[in-house]
Amino acid sequence: MSGKKYGKVDDEVLRRLIDELGKENVKADLVERYAYSTDASLFSSLPDVVVTPKNTDQVVEVLRIASEKNIPITPRGGGTGLCGGAVPLHGGILVDLSGMNRILEVDLDNLCVTVEAGITPEMLNKHLAKHGFFFPPSPGSKKMCTVGGMIATNAGGMHAVKYGVTRNFVLGLKAVIPPGEVLSLGGKVLKRCLGYDLIQLIIGSEGTLGIVTEATLRILPLPEKSAVVVAYFRDCSTAAKVVNAVLRRVIPSAIEVLDEKSIEAVNRYVPSLNLPQAGAALYFEIDGSEQEVEGQLKVIVDACKMHGGETEWTSNPNEKERLLAGREIVGGAIMNIDKRRVRVYEAEDVCVPLAQLPHFIEEVHRISERYGIPVCIYGHAGDGNCHSGIMIDPTSREEWEKMRMMSREIYELAVKLGGNISGEHGIGLLRAEYMESIHGPSLRIMKEIKKAFDPQGILNPGKMSIS
Ligand SMILES: Cc1cc2nc3c(=O)[nH]c(=O)nc-3n(C[C@H](O)[C@H](O)[C@H](O)COP(=O)(O)OP(=O)(O)OC[C@H]3O[C@@H](n4cnc5c(N)ncnc54)[C@H](O)[C@@H]3O)c2cc1C
Repeated sequence: MSGKKYGKVDDEVLRRLIDELGKENVKADLVERYAYSTDASLFSSLPDVVVTPKNTDQVVEVLRIASEKNIPITPRGGGTGLCGGAVPLHGGILVDLSGMNRILEVDLDNLCVTVEAGITPEMLNKHLAKHGFFFPPSPGSKKMCTVGGMIATNAGGMHAVKYGVTRNFVLGLKAVIPPGEVLSLGGKVLKRCLGYDLIQLIIGSEGTLGIVTEATLRILPLPEKSAVVVAYFRDCSTAAKVVNAVLRRVIPSAIEVLDEKSIEAVNRYVPSLNLPQAGAALYFEIDGSEQEVEGQLKVIVDACKMHGGETEWTSNPNEKERLLAGREIVGGAIMNIDKRRVRVYEAEDVCVPLAQLPHFIEEVHRISERYGIPVCIYGHAGDGNCHSGIMIDPTSREEWEKMRMMSREIYELAVKLGGNISGEHGIGLLRAEYMESIHGPSLRIMKEIKKAFDPQGILNPGKMSIS
């Protein structure tokens, strides 16, 4: 933690926040503060006050007060982040944007939509579906996370393999920076060549450069048809080879993997699913025109069968849900694999070049055996982005220690293979200690950029080793 001195949320600050936002949007009692002290990570720290602004002007006022009093300010969307990004490490003001969730404009002629930052992607997609359109980025947390949080973390998800990540869909945004200035960046155009791109800089900055209040997003017409293929293989290496073979020919909208332990966990969690006891499962989603889907289906089914895969496929919507169920529930299922163990989110999001995926999975299994700690591997095989769920006995000091050593080895392995330590979840507090070693001299430049946006260092301090 930095030794920096920050101002306090005293009675005067509370009174001014209430004057600007109304009593109902300023929460200073312990129960409310406690509810906002953590996200989906293991980190926690109490905010001094929680505010729930309802428009950009109110966010401006909050930043004005925070700047004047040098109070730390932490933006929060759905609180689904897995690395402590929305945890108010230094207390101060927590800004919950989830109440700013309106759709401001659907512009079908320009293929875009303008929304407030607090809307969930699922809510947005339900609305867009009525017009025959969709916003493709689709994190597993789509029911709970917000578009603002997705922008702040450059969220990925299952459909990144075909459509890309959040970064590829942001045309414009409104962000508030200290001491209460509104940046209106970009707009509805698809191309821009106008100097430094501050939109792209803010995307993935995890709330350290500005508070996103509105975004204009690219949308696409809903595909005419879709289908699902699920195949079971003797081991993860074979499954990973199939991923490479398929991607040389076609780009499905999702390619997800479950390793043997993950399949076991799913079967134990929901026995009625009764997945075959295989070494690995691959889930392919395909979408496009009728002809495209038929063509891709054939390529994928042939590749699976050629590699000895027990293969099922369908384009019937009810059947699709059944076939995808294992992938949908795996996160919850691995939590229940052994009542004495819990999953710890560390080294859970590394990304490696596609060709290294078989080697990566084999090596992580070896690390797991060497330490005697189970690891369930699942996730976005089509992006080389696998989630390694390390399962430890939380009452054992020794297992916590082993988990940290395993995480370090997994990070080092990913970097050695030409990959990185986080494909989509981000840095936050969890991976802050690695920033120096992964970025070297570029970290100094990042710190200078941070100062240009936030000279006092009040925006989400303590995150990403930036301030
Ligand atoms: C079950 C589950 C499945 C998940 N699956 C995926 C997945 O498939 N792909 C993926 O990428 N991630 C996934 N995640 C991680 C998480 O959902 C994403 O990182 C998501 O983008 C976070 O959004 P949020 O609104 O919950 O943000 P929060 O957790 O509230 O905040 C995350 C970070 O963004 C900042 N922030 C939030 N809102 C704003 C804003 N308006 N302006 C500026 N900064 C802001 C916060 O300060 C923090 O640093 C998953 C998480 C869970 C729990």
